[in-house]
Amino acid sequence: MSNDDARSYEGRCHCGAVRFRFRSEEITEARRCNCSICVRKGAVVSARYYQPHEFELVQGREALCTYRFGDEVVNHYFCKHCGIYPFHDGAGDYEGRFRVNLGCVDELDVLALPVKMIDGRSY
Ligand SMILES: [Zn+2]
Repeated sequence: MSNDDARSYEGRCHCGAVRFRFRSEEITEARRCNCSICVRKGAVVSARYYQPHEFELVQGREALCTYRFGDEVVNHYFCKHCGIYPFHDGAGDYEGRFRVNLGCVDELDVLALPVKMIDGRSY
């Protein structure tokens, strides 16, 4: 990614307790995943993971709860007030890589974006 093309996006959970910001090339596509948790959330997520220098939790660390399952390599965050999943990140060897729930980004018409599937069920 060329940093010249990067811009800033802002996202928040439903109640607004959790706010975050990330730098990305213009978002023109999205992903959904068929793993056991994503299929239940139904979330439309970013096409790639963002690195720590591209992602900033602006507010709401104290509102975030973490859910882990299986091999526990992913922190599935959700807001303890409104229950919304704003993003997740890796744990252990994958620490600090963030995938974002694009539905939390107000300026995106998320359901109008072309979506590709991630075959997370097979991982
Ligand atoms: Zn919330």
